[in-house]
Amino acid sequence: MDAITVVKGFKDILPEEAFNWQRVEQFARTIFADFGFKEIRVPILEKTELFTRGIGDTTDIVEKEMYTFSDRGTESLTLRPEATASVLRAYIEHNLFSQNAVLRLFTIGPMFRRERPQKGRYRQFHQIDVEVLGSDDPRIDAELMIMLVRFLNGLGLDNLNLDINSLGCSACRSTFREKVIAFLKDTQDDLCEDCRRRLHTNPLRVFDCKNETCGQIIKDAPSILDFICDDCRNHFEKVRSSLESFELPYRINHRMVRGLDYYTRTTFEVTIPQMGSQNAVVGGGRYDGLVRDLGGPDISGIGFAIGFERLMALLPPEQTAVPPAPALFIAALGNQAREVAFRLCNRLRLKGIPTEMDYEGKSLKSQMKKADKLGSRYVLILGDREIETGQGELRDMRSSTQQAVPLDQVENHIIQLEK
Ligand code: ATP
Ligand code: MG
Repeated sequence: MDAITVVKGFKDILPEEAFNWQRVEQFARTIFADFGFKEIRVPILEKTELFTRGIGDTTDIVEKEMYTFSDRGTESLTLRPEATASVLRAYIEHNLFSQNAVLRLFTIGPMFRRERPQKGRYRQFHQIDVEVLGSDDPRIDAELMIMLVRFLNGLGLDNLNLDINSLGCSACRSTFREKVIAFLKDTQDDLCEDCRRRLHTNPLRVFDCKNETCGQIIKDAPSILDFICDDCRNHFEKVRSSLESFELPYRINHRMVRGLDYYTRTTFEVTIPQMGSQNAVVGGGRYDGLVRDLGGPDISGIGFAIGFERLMALLPPEQTAVPPAPALFIAALGNQAREVAFRLCNRLRLKGIPTEMDYEGKSLKSQMKKADKLGSRYVLILGDREIETGQGELRDMRSSTQQAVPLDQVENHIIQLEK
């Protein structure tokens, strides 16, 4: 029979890899806690309207990338393509804004986008998503970037580019939109089909288009930074001076608009020089109108999302660890010894000593080989003679020394030796 394979664009995270994912997640939790963040866990399935309203219905994500289905004809549901809309839905639904002036939240989990699978681009991928709700203070923007860079540096990623931009507010953006439409008018026939179609509904999408010709055309487009209003300019200046006062290097990239419509004012991206310019490892920005657009009060917010797969692919080799080996392997020979070994093995595990044994009735030689392969430091050899005397031979695989140990004393010995 043919074996069933994984769905295209989806990926298994095998044990060694999952071990490293756990470490990175753990590190994120530690750093985020230092900055006052709390975890929130939200469903991966939401009403489709949350994303059409939140992300914007003329974005790539909503137009072509969502996994949307009718739930047996009752309602339209969508596997989340990003986390911000869900986190905000929960924030509004549970009145979390009443608890705290500023609420810092993070969530980690899978996202789904039906993109063309390629390196660094999957249909199920994972994000570490961070949101700060309840303030439009530009120092919050800077604080988020400080935390982000601290996290990435801590993982050995030192050589990174932090690009920032301001998209202004809805008022200043409308002037800019007109300028962009006017700029693109003459070249519109050369734009890709999507950009041509969206030229009048959402001209800023051209900035985020991955098509090469569109990229060339947009190079000479006007800069949004020349059109933002005084309030937005002051906000941006304050973000910059806050980053500078912390000596956090950044670059201004006025062409970076990001792929979601909800961004206002500050947007930012982190790229790593060796990963190719099209692929960012982190994207984020401010979304001051989004809580209101989703039916909540008029509360500001800002967040970022780290692409987990891309992050893992970038980690330097010294950041890659292998799962720990069992401390002890029990090599048992004969039925009676295996019975004793079974009880002993689980007794040790219950005491917090990672222990393995063989259930396949292998020879002593091949059990020793297995212990070696697993990397266990100690092997306890149990045969008929050892059962009779109530003592096993405890072998230190590193020093190749061996001593007789009473079976009821094994854990004490291991604990003593490990000290
Ligand atoms: P890109 O420009 O690469 O398409 P994006 O702007 O669509 O990214 P965001 O929606 O801002 O990305 O998501 C934040 C991060 O999530 C990205 O910087 C990237 O690291 C990761 N990401 C986005 N889409 C995918 C995907 N299909 N596969 C793997 N990672 C992804
Ligand atoms: Mg994308």
